[in-house]
Amino acid sequence: MSSIDYDKTFDATLVKKDQITHDTYLFGFQSEVDIQLEPAEHFQILMKDSDGIDINRNYTPILSQQRYFEVPIKIYPLGSLTPILAKLSINSKLQMQRKIGKLAYMGANKFIIAPKINKQFQVFKTMLMICGGTGITPAFSIIKHVCQKKDPLHMHLLYANKTSQDILLKDQLTKFQNECPNLKVTHILDKEPGYKGLQGYVTLDVLKQVFPSPNNDTIGTFCGPTAMNKVVAELYKNYNIQTVVKF
Ligand SMILES: Cc1cc2nc3c(=O)[nH]c(=O)nc-3n(C[C@H](O)[C@H](O)[C@H](O)COP(=O)(O)OP(=O)(O)OC[C@H]3O[C@@H](n4cnc5c(N)ncnc54)[C@H](O)[C@@H]3O)c2cc1C
Repeated sequence: MSSIDYDKTFDATLVKKDQITHDTYLFGFQSEVDIQLEPAEHFQILMKDSDGIDINRNYTPILSQQRYFEVPIKIYPLGSLTPILAKLSINSKLQMQRKIGKLAYMGANKFIIAPKINKQFQVFKTMLMICGGTGITPAFSIIKHVCQKKDPLHMHLLYANKTSQDILLKDQLTKFQNECPNLKVTHILDKEPGYKGLQGYVTLDVLKQVFPSPNNDTIGTFCGPTAMNKVVAELYKNYNIQTVVKF
């Protein structure tokens, strides 16, 4: 069975809602069509607020199996959509769309940058990932795919959070790192005095400390809160990486 086209609307039922950190739930959805998302692909939840205004938000599953997918979603108490999601009961139905992202990982070290307008793939040997908070989800889905398929892609993840309580998917990342010799995970925390690992914000010195020197075979990627994304885009420039993509 082929999977649903991009931008086509489909219905999905909430079948799982597990709290995984103080502010994040792992949501599991059963869809009425085969959505079969590729690594780093995302979908959009389409809702209306109490005034009938559209609130559409994007989410990147960390597990996608034909008609079932799971995604960690952080709840913002003052946000528009996530407080509604937090209150949803099991068996609630939602409207969604499969979306095309800014980067597609095709397997075997092949990437398509801007797949909406570009069909040519590029091959990279090394992938750098700088993620903040829930921005881990697209990187996680690529890491999982590469480790499971044993693709020869060297992956370096720098994962920034406020405290160790905020780190998502920590056990799974540790497991992948133990099983996958091509993966190096470094955590950095900015609000945990006494933390034995890296502390503070991501800086050029941090990049030099945790990443290999870049060359033409390196792709730099990032995904995090807006303020962090601005800083990281500038840092990658100063780190002289030719190819940089924000998920
Ligand atoms: C491609 C993509 C993939 C994503 N994947 C995931 C994922 O897997 N998991 C995940 O949890 N998120 C993901 N996101 C983020 C997600 O799409 C939403 O942005 C997030 O869930 C917040 O939605 P919200 O409507 O609850 O909050 P919003 O209403 O968008 O608000 C977000 C925050 O901004 C604050 N805010 C809103 N308006 C203002 C204002 N005017 N001034 C100051 N502060 C304001 C809110 O209080 C809240 O803290 C992804 C985003 C993209 C683009």
